[in-house]
Amino acid sequence: MMYDVIIVGGGAAGLSCALTLVSSRGRGWQWAENRNYMLFDKGDSDLNKAYLKNVPGLDATLGKELLKKIKKQIQDWGGLQVMQEEVVEINNKDGFYTVRTASGNIFSTSFLVLATGFHEFSIKGLELEIMENPKSPKPGRVMIKHRDFEVLPNLFVVGTLAGLSSHFTSCAGSGVEVACEILSRMAGKRIVIHDVPNV
Ligand SMILES: Cc1cc2nc3c(=O)[nH]c(=O)nc-3n(C[C@H](O)[C@H](O)[C@H](O)COP(=O)(O)OP(=O)(O)OC[C@H]3O[C@@H](n4cnc5c(N)ncnc54)[C@H](O)[C@@H]3O)c2cc1C
Repeated sequence: MMYDVIIVGGGAAGLSCALTLVSSRGRGWQWAENRNYMLFDKGDSDLNKAYLKNVPGLDATLGKELLKKIKKQIQDWGGLQVMQEEVVEINNKDGFYTVRTASGNIFSTSFLVLATGFHEFSIKGLELEIMENPKSPKPGRVMIKHRDFEVLPNLFVVGTLAGLSSHFTSCAGSGVEVACEILSRMAGKRIVIHDVPNV
């Protein structure tokens, strides 16, 4: 199966990227309709351990409740396939990326977003430049070297794996940023998604 975008990692950054992508649907934008979006996640986001009291505008909340809310927002838009599976290998073939999961299934995509967090990066295949994460107070955290979040053409990295500070807002913001870049490339013009109240 061929996808337009595959996101690997369903924490703060990966889910925020997915939410912005699917929110392009149903707006009368032909280029945005019938896109295939897929997200793979092992299910152990750092948000599961967090109690968030410093997310701007949000009452104090358990990270796991925030994860549920974002997943519900994505579901309400529709259009994202989610698989609770580990991605073990990525490759580049004829201008597309292929993703192999632990169960041996292979998926292809035009755009690939890596959002697997900063604890380790053990996905085989492409030779990506892994470095010590300079924003983490704890040693041993990693990041992938990138330029404006792009690692290779149409392959992006977001969240703590992009070397951002380990805060929900920073990581979510990078997911949104990359989603807007991908949508803009699909549309062939700059895209942002702004809604207004019904009056
Ligand atoms: C104890 C604690 C308290 C915190 N408190 C706060 C706070 O008060 N305020 C704040 O702003 N931030 C807080 N944070 C930080 C916040 O949780 C992180 O900044 C944020 O979760 C990082 O987002 P991320 O998307 O980079 O990674 P994560 O949210 O960790 O998501 C990474 C996801 O990728 C998945 N994954 C990894 N490898 C693979 C693979 N190969 N295939 C498929 N899926 C994979 C993981 O299972 C995980 O779901 C706290 C964190 C911790 C641990």
